[in-house]
Formats: sequence, C-alpha cells, structure tokens
Amino acid sequence: SMGRQAELDLIVVGGGIVGLSTAVAAQDRGLAVLCFEAARPGAGQSAGRTRIFRHRHERPELVELAVRARREWERWEMRLGHRLVGDEGALMAGPDLEDHAHRFEAADVEYAEVDPSAQRRALPILASLGETALLDPKGGAIRIRDAVEALVGWLGERLVLAEVLGLEQADGGLEVHTSEGIWRARRTVVCAGSGTDRLARPLGLELPVRHGCQLRATFGVREGLAGERLACLLDRRDTAASGVYASQCEGRPCYTVGLHSSEVDLPDGTAPIPPAESLSPTVERTSRYVAENLPGLHPEPVELRLCRTTKLPWGNDAFAAWRQGPVTVFAGNNVFKFAPVIGPLLVDSAVSDDVAPELAVPAEVPA
Ligand SMILES: Cc1cc2nc3c(=O)[nH]c(=O)nc-3n(C[C@H](O)[C@H](O)[C@H](O)COP(=O)(O)OP(=O)(O)OC[C@H]3O[C@@H](n4cnc5c(N)ncnc54)[C@H](O)[C@@H]3O)c2cc1C
Repeated sequence: SMGRQAELDLIVVGGGIVGLSTAVAAQDRGLAVLCFEAARPGAGQSAGRTRIFRHRHERPELVELAVRARREWERWEMRLGHRLVGDEGALMAGPDLEDHAHRFEAADVEYAEVDPSAQRRALPILASLGETALLDPKGGAIRIRDAVEALVGWLGERLVLAEVLGLEQADGGLEVHTSEGIWRARRTVVCAGSGTDRLARPLGLELPVRHGCQLRATFGVREGLAGERLACLLDRRDTAASGVYASQCEGRPCYTVGLHSSEVDLPDGTAPIPPAESLSPTVERTSRYVAENLPGLHPEPVELRLCRTTKLPWGNDAFAAWRQGPVTVFAGNNVFKFAPVIGPLLVDSAVSDDVAPELAVPAEVPA
C-alpha cells in the first residue's frame, strides 16, 4: 500500500558498500535513517568475491585518506570480531615506484622494497616482478561478502528492499517515491552506483559520470600452493596495458585478475553489457598474463564476471559528492576500500550545508 510515513532524518538510496556504510554511520549518530536497495545489498558494483585495499594512489590526499580508511576498517573489524581486510599485503611493480615511495613516506605509510625472493614469499604463485617491487604490508584483500553482510546485520530493519523511483522537493524536506510507498526525509543521500546520475538529473544535477563495465577472471591456485597467503598484485610494468589488478578470493583457493585495459565504455547506466562472446579476446589476454606471470595458477579461468563501473573524468580513483538542496549525491570509482570513511563523510555532508572537503570536486579539475 502506498502509505505516507513519519518524516525521517535521512534516507540513503542504494545498498552497495557506500550506501550501507552511510546508513550505519547515520544510525551510529542516532539519526532516524532508512536505506533503500532496489535489488540485493551488494549486488551492484560491490558484487564479486574480492576487492583490493591499497595505500597506493596518485594523489597524496588519497594516500592519507587510505590511512584513515584502514583505521575505520579496523573499527568495523573490532565491532564484528574478525578480519575484513586480509594481512596478505599488496605488491606493486611499475615505472613509478619511486614516486609512490615518496608519497608513502610523506603520509607515514609503511612499505618495503622487495627483491624477487621476497616477492615470491608474499605471493608464492608469482614468477617475478623484476629486481625491485614495493610491498604495502597493510594492503590486502577485502572480504567483501563479509563486509556487506556485517553492515546489513547492523542496519537490521533500517534496510528496506524497495526501488527508489524519484525524489521530489516538498516544503522543508523531500519526498522519496519508492516501489513500496512514499517516505519523507529531511535529507537524502544518493549512492545508487550506476543509477545515481539518473536519479540526480531531474533535480538539475548533471553529473560527469562515465559508465562502463569491466571483466574480472578468477583462476584456481595449483595444488601445493592452495593453502598459501597471497598478496594482492598491482602490476603496472606494461604501461600500454595500464595495469593489472589481482587479489585472492574470500575463503577459496582462487585468485581474481583484472586488466585495466579490459574496460569497455557504455553510454549510460542502463545500457546492456556486451555479450559474452565479445569478451573472449580479453579473457585470452588475461589468461596469457597469468600463464607468463602467475605460474602458480591454472591459466584457464574458473569464473568470469562482468561488472558495471562508474567513473569520474579526473582519475582512476576519483570520487565526489554534490549537494542540491536537501539531496547529496555521490559518485566515484574504486571506492570499496574507502567506504568506511566515505559513509561518515556523506552523513556530514548531508546534515551540514556543505559537502565535506574530502568529497569535494578537487579544485584543479573543471567542475
Ligand atoms: C570488477 C571490479 C573490480 C573492482 N576492484 C576494486 C578494488 O580492488 N578496490 C576498490 O576499492 N574498489 C574496486 N572496485 C570498485 C568498487 O567495487 C566500487 O567503487 C564500489 O563497490 C561502489 O560501491 P557503491 O555502493 O557506490 O555502488 P554499488 O555497489 O553499485 O551500489 C549501488 C546500489 O544501489 C542500488 N540502486 C541503484 N538504483 C537504485 C534505486 N533507484 N533505488 C534503490 N536502489 C538502487 C543498486 O542495486 C546497488 O546495489 C571494483 C569494481 C569492479 C566492478
């Protein structure tokens, strides 16, 4: 039934990792909050088996934010009673290691230079990354299903399975129209992933979001290595391919590998993702990378996953929030690792009159 409900302090649209983190942060501050999820929590860009937590970023501000995020992950771990970010570390190779080392030093991030034998100790399935690589010992694979499940548990009945159809300004607040009825809230945060720009447009916000999708292939670990701890891998040696990202899966002897160059652009968040056949060249390239560089894996993938992505034009790890009246909208890429800090910052942005500085569009890029 389409009943009207009492006014809430905050409505969060989207139950991906960012929306869940935002709703939990609001709940922790004693706000009357509901989080609406159209499909299943963690079904969108937050889906899959693994994500990388890393300190490596091009912008010094993001290295610092990663340090804060790591602490917030630890707070979630304390509350939950077990680990969410693994202690495998993250191995980095590429032409820009010196710059990264400087940024780590500036932000007081622990790191180590590792030779091929130390590289293989961190990642026993590896051939070699060459003479020098860097290890980020506080990097690791995020247990993403565990994390989503924990947040869903903390929210309880404040998570509502309903699709938000539109947001309408009403005197002093906002009406949120959903498939399960209409709710009123003083403030709303939209973190609906690939659905965010569509919800923001009728409010007069044209977001610079670019849509795409990305392939991740999962490979089985060879017998004999199956019990080993596997560091995450950030390999940027082949600058033409612009990077390989890989990490171990939650609870199974598998390793998921993605080539940055496997990304395909899409015109918008509803455009169909490409058919499986069109992906075979990318799958082959990924298998070839594995055969050459990760001999401890079987080079035939055991699982392929195509995920939607949203990106902002000023960088691979870019994200931002915008305010329009009572509505705050969020968009970004590669933000799983930052989710425990982004949630509280989105609550700050929603309840005050300005976007938190950490979430503002950086000054040096066109708005
Ligand atoms: C293959 C792949 C690998 C990645 N690797 C990494 C990594 O290693 N490290 C990292 O930090 N990040 C990584 N990322 C990025 C990271 O996963 C995303 O940035 C993050 O999950 C985004 O979370 P979100 O909550 O913003 O969006 P989503 O998870 O997409 O959540 C949005 C939610 O909103 C819901 N929704 C949409 N419209 C509506 C509506 N109208 N009403 C109600 N609900 C709605 C959707 O169903 C969805 O559940 C990767 C992404 C992909 C795809």
